[in-house]
Amino acid sequence: MKYLKFSNNDQMPALGLGTWKSAKGEVYQVVRKAIEIGYRHFDCAFIYGNEHEIGQAISDAIQNGEIKRKELWITSKLWNNRHKKEYIQTAVENTLTDLKLEYLDLYLIHWPVAHKYDVSYPQNGNELLSLDEVSLTETWSGMISLKNLGLSKHIGVSNFSIKKINQITTDTGVLPEVLQLEAHPFLQQKPLLDFATEKGFFLTGFCPLGSADRPANRISAGEPKLFDNQTIIDIAKDKGFSPAQIMLAWAVNRGTSVIPKSVNPQRLKENLEAAEIELSGNEMARINALDLHYRYIKGDFWCLEGSDYTLAKLWDE
Ligand code: NAP
Repeated sequence: MKYLKFSNNDQMPALGLGTWKSAKGEVYQVVRKAIEIGYRHFDCAFIYGNEHEIGQAISDAIQNGEIKRKELWITSKLWNNRHKKEYIQTAVENTLTDLKLEYLDLYLIHWPVAHKYDVSYPQNGNELLSLDEVSLTETWSGMISLKNLGLSKHIGVSNFSIKKINQITTDTGVLPEVLQLEAHPFLQQKPLLDFATEKGFFLTGFCPLGSADRPANRISAGEPKLFDNQTIIDIAKDKGFSPAQIMLAWAVNRGTSVIPKSVNPQRLKENLEAAEIELSGNEMARINALDLHYRYIKGDFWCLEGSDYTLAKLWDE
């Protein structure tokens, strides 16, 4: 396994397991299996609704002597209705209780979007709070406090643009350590990768396989499919790997971490093994030429009438 190494020498395994959509009643066995076959990095979030069960699996594996806490890298994320400074510590403490952990390795602001306290998913513009009402700097200051308290060893953001990262960094003097964002051959995020390299933080790519199990209302008719791409299929065939493994190997070979989700034991193993695949300069160049700047997770569900959110303001592009 390759690792991304932080300035304090902590190391994040380059390939981890995504857990969005891994259903309750199923995710316990998935996490136990993943630990058994060698996964050490788990990507969680309060809003996925399954942290309690993931925590039970981690705790049982530790109790059973299969793994030590310090060998694991556990990420979680602050949901959009807990952005106000006074709510942030309780939010991480709830996640820690569910995960049965004393600290997280990484805690992220899930989206640069704020909801009212009792709203999980806004249905209309009135249920959102503008970033003037609760600023990203306020939320980021709360995250810094959590790190100072030792509740998370590292802190970062997700779905943030360069502009928003510059803003919170200038306002607080503290740079996020990780940016989690959608990244795959059709959305390569090169400007953000270059920015991260220049500033000294890491990228984690989500939806690396195109997230085919997204809710149907988030799937656009006629969207491009990574698994149908001939270049990816050809490279996979040439090297004797699967197309999914080539997409994941590309992510690791370009220096990012990547968190494919699977609940299938065979695919769990296949995905983990992808972290060891080396791609040649020519193979990387052929995949680098596939960028379409195509988002599977568009963020349009936040841009509700009567709110301050628009796609242009969300992505700053
Ligand atoms: P993904 O990992 O791109 O794709 C998951 C889909 O691919 C599932 O249908 C899975 O089915 C299938 N799959 C897995 N391995 C495969 C293989 N080897 N061959 C063929 N199909 C395969 O999508 P995602 O779950 O949306 O993204 C990954 C993780 O990123 C999430 O789980 C979550 O942890 C994180 N994420 C974060 C954000 C954010 O806002 N920060 C947003 C989206 C996702 P099976 O399960 O049946 O194998």
